[in-house]
Amino acid sequence: MSYRTDNVFARILRGELPAHRVYEDEHTLAFMDIMPQVDGHTLVIPKYPAEDLFDLPAEHLRHTIETTQRVARAVREAFAADGIMIAQLSGAAAGQTVFHLHFHILPRSAGIDFRLHARDMAPGAVLAEHARRIRDVLAAGH
Ligand code: AMP
Repeated sequence: MSYRTDNVFARILRGELPAHRVYEDEHTLAFMDIMPQVDGHTLVIPKYPAEDLFDLPAEHLRHTIETTQRVARAVREAFAADGIMIAQLSGAAAGQTVFHLHFHILPRSAGIDFRLHARDMAPGAVLAEHARRIRDVLAAGH
């Protein structure tokens, strides 16, 4: 399959669809997952048009994983998480549903289970508040 420019994340990158953004630089963008499996569920994407992990040149992969580390650190603090899970699904058979490469950041804490993948939309006000918490940590330089 080749990269399709009408996928949801390409449209977010172009500003055609809204997103609760938490971080952006020249190469990457991070925003809240609209159907979070856990509070604080955040996505990191490269700006480069890669469908999956195997499509992304190494230099862009380096930027993307560095942003993932930076944002994951902020998510961990903002949600006082015991641990952070990073997930990346490449290919429909692996469960990929949006075909622009993304890394999931999932805060984990004892006793808090996951909700189902890509199922229930969170209220916009809740996502806005979660995004603000993460941005605040990033702005504080943690
Ligand atoms: P995957 O199944 O790994 O491709 O994950 C795609 C993720 O994108 C799911 O967790 C969805 O909840 C999420 N998602 C789908 N549409 C949007 C959107 N418009 N904004 C933010 N997240 C989205």
